[in-house]
Formats: sequence, structure tokens, C-alpha cells
Amino acid sequence: MFGIKADWSLDVYERYFTLDDYATGDVRWCSGCGDFAILNTVHRVLRDAQIEPEKSVAVSGIGCSSRMPHYMGTYGFHGLHGRALPVANGIKSRRPDLDVWVATGDGDCFSIGAGPWLHALHLNMDMVILVFDNGIYGLTKKQTSPTTNQGTKTNTHPKGAILPPLNPLTITLGITNISFVAQVVDWNPPLLYETVKAAHEHRGTSFVRILQRCPVFSEEFTKPLQENPDKFTLLEHEDGITIDDNIKRLFHNVVEHDPKDWLAAMKYARDIENIPLGILFKDPDAIVYEDHSSQGLGTTNEQKVAAINAAFDKFSI
Ligand code: SF4
Repeated sequence: MFGIKADWSLDVYERYFTLDDYATGDVRWCSGCGDFAILNTVHRVLRDAQIEPEKSVAVSGIGCSSRMPHYMGTYGFHGLHGRALPVANGIKSRRPDLDVWVATGDGDCFSIGAGPWLHALHLNMDMVILVFDNGIYGLTKKQTSPTTNQGTKTNTHPKGAILPPLNPLTITLGITNISFVAQVVDWNPPLLYETVKAAHEHRGTSFVRILQRCPVFSEEFTKPLQENPDKFTLLEHEDGITIDDNIKRLFHNVVEHDPKDWLAAMKYARDIENIPLGILFKDPDAIVYEDHSSQGLGTTNEQKVAAINAAFDKFSI
């Protein structure tokens, strides 16, 4: 005769996530590509925050950087060109509990995705936008992008890019309700980690422009910067990122900058001779749109039908 133990319980053990829990797939970027450093940093930030992989979503558009969701052991959405941000905003509207990351590039975000970019910044939903900016269309093999340096020879401008590059920082800072703007390079892992971590901890849309190495198609975009750290101004502040002495030693230009100071942020963003690194601007009080767009999520189907009928009744004659 079989007996049934009535006092059993399902033990739920506390879970601890390692880097392997956030990584997946066979990473297929070129050797020496800066995307590896960014991907590893995101894995580390997630591991250190112990975000459940099933509570995180990576969203992308099209481009080399947009392969990132394939390399995340989380949910992912590899979307259409320039349309990562509307997808991310939609996810956040319906599932504000999820941890949303957007991987996009300079072509994907600043060109075909420019409209969604501006509106996503305005909405200020709680997510991290990482722009892998290598100043070129890499996936389609070297066309001029909005951030290509003037004079760079590309397949679309074989005699050199005609226009000076668009400045993503000043544009971003110009959007109403902006709440977090940072810039960093992919080749300084501690600085990259601290910046991405701060972006992740901020509640609102954290826009992080990452100057990214593409040794195959745009080495000239980052090589002069790698070779001369004096081209950078490192921004530090107790409300910004923690910069330890080992990082600071690499930079000769380190300035105190309060990220609440929008005017000073704009001044640094405009200075293309002394490229700012760190957090330019942070406003924890900006309106987070999902606080409004996610209202009524628990509404039952019956309640929805009743609400629709009530709305129709307003027009009955
Ligand atoms: Fe990276 Fe450039 Fe290769 Fe794309 S083409 S994977 S950006 S090195």
C-alpha cells in the first residue's frame, strides 16, 4: 500500500547567477572588435546585480552591435533596422518589471532610427541604451554613418565624408525630460564597467554612447584616441561615477563635473577637442513614462469589455 506524505514542501533554493548564466551562443564578431568588451561588461553588470536572466531582455535593431541579444542568456529581440527603441518601449509599457537593455549602433540609432531615438529619450522609460559608435556602417562594409569623421574615405564617399559628424551628445542633451547621458570608450574596461553600472542603476532611460573599435572598417575613428588619452576630459563627481586612481592615472585631464549641471554638460558635449568621458548629465526626478503607460495592467477581460461598452454608451442617442 502506498502512503502519501502530507508534510512535504517544495524547497526553493536561493539562486546565484554566474557570468555563464548571462552568456550564450558562439560570438561572431571580428577579432579585435570592441563589441566583445561591451558584451562582457553587460554580463558582469548583470551578474553583480544578480538580475534573474529570465527577468532581463536585450533588444536590438540591425548592425554588428545588434547581434548582442544572440549572445545574452536572457530574453532577446533582434528587431528591424532603427526600430529597437519602439520595441523596448513597448516591452517596458507592458512589463515594467523587466530589466531592458538596448544595443544599437551609430547607423541604426542616429540615422534610420533617429525618430525613435528622440521619442525614446523623451519617454524616459527605465532602460539602458548602449550605442556602439564606431563611426561607420560595419555590417554592410564601410558606408558613411552620421558620426563618420569628416574626410574619412568610405564606400559611399570615396573622396572623404563631406559633412562634419553629428554630435549625439548635444542632441541627446537637448531632448526634454532627458535623464541620463554618458560617454565612454570600449578599451578601458574599468571605466566602461563603472559607466554601464551607473547607467543600469539609474531609473529612467540611460543613454550611453560608447566609442567602439572597429579595426576592420574604421580603425582611424578610434586609433588616434587610443594612442592619445590627452584628447579626453574625464568627468568625475561623487554623484557621477567612482573613478579610482588606477583609471585616473591614464588621463591627464580630469575635472570635477556635477551631473545635475545641464549647462556645463552641454559645454563639455560641444567640446570636440576635449572629448568628455563619464556621466555628463543625470536627473533622477525626470518623469518615467512607464509609471503612466503601465497603469491598468491587472484589468480583467470582463473589465475591459465593460469599459469599452461604457465608452460606446457615451455615443448612444
Ligand atoms: Fe566589429 Fe567592425 Fe567586425 Fe563589425 S565589422 S564585427 S564592428 S570589427
